Amino acid sequence: MIPLPSGLPVLNSEPPALDLVNTHLVLADTWVDLLEDSAGRTEWLAMETERMGLDVDPRTLTDADWRTLQELRDHAAVTIEAARHEKRPPRRAVSALNDVAAAAPAASRARWDGSRLVAAPHRSGPVGSRVAAGFADAAVELLTSPNILKVRRCEAPACVVRFLARNPRRRWCTPEICGNRARVARYYMRRKAEANAR
Ligand SMILES: [Zn+2]
Repeated sequence: MIPLPSGLPVLNSEPPALDLVNTHLVLADTWVDLLEDSAGRTEWLAMETERMGLDVDPRTLTDADWRTLQELRDHAAVTIEAARHEKRPPRRAVSALNDVAAAAPAASRARWDGSRLVAAPHRSGPVGSRVAAGFADAAVELLTSPNILKVRRCEAPACVVRFLARNPRRRWCTPEICGNRARVARYYMRRKAEANAR
């Protein structure tokens, strides 16, 4: 996980499509784009590609490849937002996801892992296309699974992070940070209300 300035350690722990969407986030009341930060983004992508089983070196991505990822992220964000509310996503965003996935389609390849045959996805094409296709496939997988209805936005004030609430009681992206922030905000609201009532 990437330690961000606020200590928000959530960016490599959700399904890859949500991790991608969460790279555009609010920290200390300011929108931050992690994909604009050249050191942080490489570290972040190395963890994501490993999780997705993609054998790529994130340091070899060009600026154009990163821009493709940013665009894909925006399409994934609007599509996920519509789908989690059971609304029809914009046609353009869905086509964009499909086009990016089709640019480097995955074929299953059998491989001996030392004790048994395992299937591993294999993509061909330039590294940037393979990475983007991995995320596009991950987005389609989430969008078409019942899990899409479990995607939530963190309830802490000013936090926009999305997560998959496997436990229906989960309310915050990070209980230690956002859970505390929400508790502190509620405490002050209560104190203010009591002061006003006096
Ligand atoms: Zn949060």
